[in-house]
Amino acid sequence: MTKTVHHWIGGKTVEGTSGNFGPVTDPATGAVTTQVAFASAEEVDRAVAIARAAYLTWGTSSLAQRTTVLFKFRALLDANRDAIAELITAEHGKVHSDALGEVARGLEIVDLACGITTQLKGELSTQVSSRVDVASIRQPLGVVAGITPFNFPAMVPMWMFPIAIACGNTFILKPSEKDPSASMKIAELLAEAGLPDGVFTVLHGDRVAVDALLAHPDIAAVSFVGSTPIARHIHATASAHGKRVQALGGAKNHMLVLPDADLDAAADAAVSAAYGSAGERCMAISAVVAVGAIGDELVEKIRERAEKIKIGPGNDPSSEMGPLITAAHRDKVASYVKGAAAQGSTVVLDGSDHTVPGFENGHWIGLSLLDHVPTTSDAYRDEIFGPVLCVLRAETYEEGLALINASPFGNGTAIFTRDGGAARRFQLEVEAGMVGVNVPIPVPVGYHSFGGWKDSLFGDHHVYGNDGTHFYTRGKVVTTRWPDPADDPSGVDLGFPMSR
Ligand code: NAD
Repeated sequence: MTKTVHHWIGGKTVEGTSGNFGPVTDPATGAVTTQVAFASAEEVDRAVAIARAAYLTWGTSSLAQRTTVLFKFRALLDANRDAIAELITAEHGKVHSDALGEVARGLEIVDLACGITTQLKGELSTQVSSRVDVASIRQPLGVVAGITPFNFPAMVPMWMFPIAIACGNTFILKPSEKDPSASMKIAELLAEAGLPDGVFTVLHGDRVAVDALLAHPDIAAVSFVGSTPIARHIHATASAHGKRVQALGGAKNHMLVLPDADLDAAADAAVSAAYGSAGERCMAISAVVAVGAIGDELVEKIRERAEKIKIGPGNDPSSEMGPLITAAHRDKVASYVKGAAAQGSTVVLDGSDHTVPGFENGHWIGLSLLDHVPTTSDAYRDEIFGPVLCVLRAETYEEGLALINASPFGNGTAIFTRDGGAARRFQLEVEAGMVGVNVPIPVPVGYHSFGGWKDSLFGDHHVYGNDGTHFYTRGKVVTTRWPDPADDPSGVDLGFPMSR
């Protein structure tokens, strides 16, 4: 072990005092490379107090001051794309190009935050009543927290903090304990950009740190992204403590392929979206629903493509798919494939026993393709979060749609077709928060918002876009009257005020 990752509090690295640490593994080698400090409830208290003190000045700073910092941060982020991507690959395992993609998508949200001046513009109505004007403004909440998953250690925090701090809040990030280093690099870049101390905090840890944040009276709002059971816990607990909460959960994203679709394009899309990042994406396609008679041909096209994917360490430029995050997760993913035939699926590709020569202790798994998957099977019902693609068959569009809408998850979905009318119906009828038409991973651009339905999001705000600004601010409406004593003599009137 060569490295210890500490917290970032008050604009500098602060050593953990709890005595608790967690291991960070290089998934390609299986070696523990780093230990990360786990914050105690007392450390959370101290960090929140510093963030609260910072809010007193940051919350009233000018928009010009905030955007100046954000523009500098954007430039630094741009210059450090490779450095951040290398940290992600070393701890997450995803291939370098994929890690660069995640940084690029996070940078989009920084772009949005640089333009916060437009988003925070208030509204003014003049002369709503005689000599009365009404202004609606939005103000920051205070100290807000973000709790993020392992699979996007740079992008998901960037879905949150650029908007939160642009709106005048101070932000405490509790990143995943499995890949904590990218968040520390981001903290350093924010400091270099001139962000005042205490505006951005990184507290590492596990449930102890999270639960302390959820109950803390000085945390005004909580943004969470992670698995559905934890999202449910975060939403219930933080809400019970009176906080504003958005908790994004897991997914099982379906791709509906109609008989008129370009099957080569659909197979390319299915393979890219199912196996990219080894399936560890909340927007991964994990179920393909083939409509009509195209099923066998589509499965064959997917199989041909999947067999050619090169698996290897993320820092090898020839690798297309890296390892899974932990050995335990690899074993869990493999168990779904091993149990699939007994539960009624046809196993077309079985990647459960894959290894990479020279990296025998890495968390490897190959690509798996299951066909005729019963909706009652574990492989279909659970979010596997690995490179396992389930194919299901439907006779008609309606049957396929009903199958998708019966899923408890509703994150993303896609339709592949040449029929504009069917695509339009699907957009309106499918129960999911993000829909792609001939687009397999419809992650919205920064100026739209990201969020699912049903068990994929608890709370009523998506992240980023206008929803992000709304989530991190609260409304205030100011009614002003400048009476002219000549026309408007004052007098006692116990009636309810009416416009006139
Ligand atoms: P996870 O739910 O295990 O962990 C997420 C965060 O919660 C981490 O910071 C973790 O430390 C913390 N946490 C874990 N257990 C906790 C507990 N008992 N109490 C309090 N905090 C706890 O998720 P993960 O494995 O890191 O990430 C993968 C999951 O995230 C998948 O389910 C994936 O679909 C989901 N995800 C969803 C989205 C989305 O936008 N909907 C995006 C990315 C990932």
